[in-house]
Amino acid sequence: SPQRVPLLAGNWKMNLDHLQATHLVQKLDWTLRDAKHDHAAVEVAVLPPFTDLRSVQTLVDGDRLAIKYGAQDLSKHQSGAYTGEVSGAFLAKLGCTYVTVGHSERREYHGETDETVNAKVAAAYANDLVPIFCVGEGLEIRQAGTHVEHVLDQVRAGLEGLPADKAASIVIAYEPVWAIGTGEVATPADAQEVCGAIRTLLAELYSGDLADRVRILYGGSVKSGNVAAIMEQADVDGALVGGASIDPVEFAAICRYRD
Ligand code: PEP
Repeated sequence: SPQRVPLLAGNWKMNLDHLQATHLVQKLDWTLRDAKHDHAAVEVAVLPPFTDLRSVQTLVDGDRLAIKYGAQDLSKHQSGAYTGEVSGAFLAKLGCTYVTVGHSERREYHGETDETVNAKVAAAYANDLVPIFCVGEGLEIRQAGTHVEHVLDQVRAGLEGLPADKAASIVIAYEPVWAIGTGEVATPADAQEVCGAIRTLLAELYSGDLADRVRILYGGSVKSGNVAAIMEQADVDGALVGGASIDPVEFAAICRYRD
């Protein structure tokens, strides 16, 4: 859709220290510049570990890079006695545009429930950060054939109580857990089935107009060789890229999926 600017977001996970982060962002920027990348037409974002964000901010501001950045998580609390947590206010102060919320690795290894995810979506908006709200089914649910229902339940729970003026800017990432880091990519039709169902649900929960504006990403073993077919799907507006995003040349090629 012409009204939805595609977004390619690189989730570095727990990879690259702040010096490596600077190198990667520079190399990504040079590679995209060489290709005359139009950032207004296809948006590019990186999601480094917290400890890299200050360095990324310095580079992006200093060299006026068009690459956007954000964090991989935030606290549901604003401030206080929460040792080890990071407030959305601190991320906003570092110039973050985005923050990933409810990534399957957070749900699986850090006990994040739909309620936690809902509170973190609200915390992101409280600090003017755009959540990249992640949903997706595990292998058993996929095999049982209840993946669409499962994902729509996660979307309903994550958006609970979120007013339309906020929901209008959310990014939703459909990431089937069985495709994350496994090399097993969903077929374009699998991605479309769920992304289309999410958009229909947004129209029911809010309005058709809002549903037409929200960007829905696919994530799970996206690479330069498979991204174009996924991006051709009507309801897929971008990709959340893990493993392939820590190689700047490969990630740039993913961002250049139209070439
Ligand atoms: C992710 O972590 O969001 C992801 C999609 O990982 P990968 O691309 O490595 O499957």
